[in-house]
Amino acid sequence: MSALPRVKAVIIGAGAGGPIVAKELTQAGWPVVLLERGQWYTANDCRKDDLRNQRNSTLGHPFGPDDDGNPRVVVTANGQQRLVEPSGPGYSNNAACVGGGTLSYGAMAWRFHPNDFQMKTVYGAQVPRAVEGSTLADWPITYDELEPFYEKAEWELGVSGDVSTDPFHGPRNKPLPMPPLPPTREHLILEKGAKALGLHPFHIPMLRNSVPYNGRPACMRCRWCVGFACEVDAKCGTQNTVLPTALNTGLLELRLQCMVKEILVDEHGKATGVAYFDRQGQLWEQPAEHVIVSGSAIESARLLLNSKSRLFPQGLGNRYDWVGRNLQGHTYTGAFGLFDQDTYDDVGPGAGIAICDYNHGNPDLAGGAMLANEFIRLPYQFVSGLRAPGVPRWGAAHKEFVRRFYRRSIAVQGPTQEMPFFESRVTVDPQVRDKLGIPVARLSGNKHPHTIEIGDAMTAKAEAWLKASGAIQTWPKKAGQGTSGGQHQAGTCRMGNDPRTSVVDRWCRLHEVENVHVVDGSVHVTNGGFNPVLTIMANAYRVAGHLVGGAK
Ligand SMILES: Cc1cc2nc3c(=O)[nH]c(=O)nc-3n(C[C@H](O)[C@H](O)[C@H](O)COP(=O)(O)OP(=O)(O)OC[C@H]3O[C@@H](n4cnc5c(N)ncnc54)[C@H](O)[C@@H]3O)c2cc1C
Ligand code: SF4
Repeated sequence: MSALPRVKAVIIGAGAGGPIVAKELTQAGWPVVLLERGQWYTANDCRKDDLRNQRNSTLGHPFGPDDDGNPRVVVTANGQQRLVEPSGPGYSNNAACVGGGTLSYGAMAWRFHPNDFQMKTVYGAQVPRAVEGSTLADWPITYDELEPFYEKAEWELGVSGDVSTDPFHGPRNKPLPMPPLPPTREHLILEKGAKALGLHPFHIPMLRNSVPYNGRPACMRCRWCVGFACEVDAKCGTQNTVLPTALNTGLLELRLQCMVKEILVDEHGKATGVAYFDRQGQLWEQPAEHVIVSGSAIESARLLLNSKSRLFPQGLGNRYDWVGRNLQGHTYTGAFGLFDQDTYDDVGPGAGIAICDYNHGNPDLAGGAMLANEFIRLPYQFVSGLRAPGVPRWGAAHKEFVRRFYRRSIAVQGPTQEMPFFESRVTVDPQVRDKLGIPVARLSGNKHPHTIEIGDAMTAKAEAWLKASGAIQTWPKKAGQGTSGGQHQAGTCRMGNDPRTSVVDRWCRLHEVENVHVVDGSVHVTNGGFNPVLTIMANAYRVAGHLVGGAK
């Protein structure tokens, strides 16, 4: 293995967290190398194919990782193992490219609720069955500590929306930098229904330009948003915001198609850098003073578990067997509704209205979910997913249903907060390796029963909202058991004060290794009843600020 010149920091992964840290460190004068296993794609690399995008990968996906040579092993609820390729069901793929999930995401930009940081305190005594058998805990930081960094993420990357009519959000010092996009027909129908129920609808905050912002244009409201890269660059990901800023400092070297194999340590237990394969498959050593891990919850856990050495025979940071544990995501539940009036106006991105009335305060439940309307439905999604019970999938009745209801249907759903479960986990497979010879991630475990219970309660709320909005027929979208994770994967390197029950400390530094930090969703103790990316971004700003010595 050839060694390269030592740098101040090496960052693994150019997704949501890594580029934010790269920007903060380089602006503070640190020379940084950022290693990303994927490539730098644009909208031109992804055709508008309903069946081949990062959300629907029936025919594969454009933004990686390649199906060839990158499997995972998934252990099903009944103990059966299967080998899954990245575009296959159960793989829990985000993306492997510059921007990571933020290149093709839906761009909902939620702050977690203050209670989301204190779930054990709020619900431990109140709902004992939520805690029983789960590893529910409080975060070691509060909403108030993260608030300035939420604001920084909203203003630096760019968020549009209006949360002023949401009485449930945490305290904030500044409004969002951009107004919301004008409401769609669906938005107006749901707004009326929510108000009739006494709920508090508002415009979803989105990492999406509603007006020209930071040198990029406003959204042109197309149909191909979630799962696709934005053709006019109006979606705000790390690839078109913080990363160019970091590169402009001249202190960042971004190396693409470089897969980090392991974190290297010396005989004193300090990290010395990383070993990685370049695009030709050659192995390099990148020495660094600090190692920042941001590969997403599953790959970060895999990397730490694969970083075995004499001092860390169970993997780095894994003395107490917590790396890879508590794998969470979100249990998506909600409802579908059919209407006798047109609800569809072909105006993207579709999702626009939400309620937070059910995130907390549900009697006898530990948490809940934000509920929102779905992104614009592409024809295939309608045909495959939005079908009233009993309607056949082929023939005259199928055609009649599609003709009648494609323009007259609404889906409402939300990311139910999951109860963390110790047995829901990432390990590395003892046999299966990827094309570079690195042991692959193995996903196993189920969801906590209370998670399913909360999800079911959310379906009832969603159906009631649709009925109040005029739906002539509704039916629930329920969730079943199975491994957690998905595109909102989190939890596998839990943040905490006690090294025996967490992996990183409050500054996201491995308890066991003073110069390794983790800055992706894996540090989330719990994952809120909201999409997670803004929290990942805010926390990355917080950790970077601490690293450069100016914790704000
Ligand atoms: C279609 C889609 C829609 C989504 N919609 C939303 C939404 O509306 N709102 C929201 O909050 N979230 C959304 N998400 C989820 C969001 O994108 C993720 O939560 C977020 O990107 C996670 O950030 P991360 O930094 O942890 O990981 P990622 O963004 O997954 O980035 C990790 C990066 O690390 C790289 N990497 C991993 N391992 C290695 C290694 N060993 N060596 C080198 N590189 C490595 C990967 O290639 C990847 O680019 C969506 C995701 C997708 C895919
Ligand atoms: S809906 Fe707007 S932000 Fe989304 S891809 Fe289309 S133009 Fe871009």
